[in-house]
Amino acid sequence: MAVVVYIESENGTPKKAGLEVASYGRALADAHGVSLVAVGFNLTDHERLNVFGVDKLYNIDTQGGVHFDVERYSEALAQVATKVSASLMVVSSSADGRYIGPIVAIKTDAAYMSNVVGLPSQYGPLQVKRTCFTNKAFNETQSTKERVVLSLSSNSYGLHEKPGTAEVLSGDYPVSSNSLKVESVEKATDKVSIADADIVVSGGRGLKGPENWHLIEDLADVLGAATACSKPVSDMGWRSHSEHVGQTGKPVASNLYIAIGVSGAIQHLAGINASKVKVVINSDPEAPFFKAADYGIVGDAFEVVPVLTEKLKARMQ
Ligand SMILES: Cc1cc2nc3c(=O)[nH]c(=O)nc-3n(C[C@H](O)[C@H](O)[C@H](O)COP(=O)(O)OP(=O)(O)OC[C@H]3O[C@@H](n4cnc5c(N)ncnc54)[C@H](O)[C@@H]3O)c2cc1C
Repeated sequence: MAVVVYIESENGTPKKAGLEVASYGRALADAHGVSLVAVGFNLTDHERLNVFGVDKLYNIDTQGGVHFDVERYSEALAQVATKVSASLMVVSSSADGRYIGPIVAIKTDAAYMSNVVGLPSQYGPLQVKRTCFTNKAFNETQSTKERVVLSLSSNSYGLHEKPGTAEVLSGDYPVSSNSLKVESVEKATDKVSIADADIVVSGGRGLKGPENWHLIEDLADVLGAATACSKPVSDMGWRSHSEHVGQTGKPVASNLYIAIGVSGAIQHLAGINASKVKVVINSDPEAPFFKAADYGIVGDAFEVVPVLTEKLKARMQ
């Protein structure tokens, strides 16, 4: 018996989502008194997983194919899960995680539960809390199957360290035929991605125009943050669509989300609900975002943000 987790990575390094899934898997494994088995692909920096209590790591070399490959990865995960008699498998709620999770569930005859936020409220049968209606409500879902694949919402469990040493194994898990092959990936920016960022600084129409975006970028640089924007901002071409967050954009699950000149429409909030601390800077005290904020500054962004950036810069030196 074991719990199996899929470790997402980029350039051989586990992503934050992968480490969170490992932390969560460790807690599930402890609750069942079983071992935690991780499956990663082409990991070069796998020592990081030792910090999160992984007992065994199947580090699978895809022989040159370094990009996410749903057929190969799902087959390897399913084969490892079968080999170690896994009853629980965990993936993240990233685009790749949500792609691979249901396929692994079908291959292993498991139930699939998406958007899980927190540890199970009961184990036999398994019952978990999940978000629904674009994070505006929760439901408790019970599995009628013994084997379950869970996809964990980003930032819902966090990183919990449990140092140890993972036994590293390799393995060959060929697929009978690969119908898709990713030839190349072109990133929109070299900066930290919104999905992986601990801190996100986001701008809305209140910034008046793209020529003022240095306010957002300077603050983001000081904090080592990713930059984001509201939908109209990307629709008007002020910023790239890759920065658009919300219901129709990217979800953000950062530890700190700073929204500047963003009104806080429900479609925007739907994408950032999973962020932990929300700071709002807006000149209108009635802006709806203040209701969702942990901290708010009522003021003109053009006055407040340069001062904030300078103060933070001085503090961090
Ligand atoms: C089906 C659908 C899907 C949608 N999906 C999304 C989505 O995914 N993401 C998204 O963001 N939106 C989405 N929208 C649009 C959403 O409804 C809002 O229109 C949008 O979020 C508003 O963007 P904004 O806050 O930048 O602009 P505005 O609503 O124009 O707000 C600008 C804010 O800036 C403040 N401001 C003005 N000047 C200053 C200043 N000098 N200093 C400080 N503050 C200032 C104003 O008080 C105001 O609150 C969607 C809409 C629909 C219908």
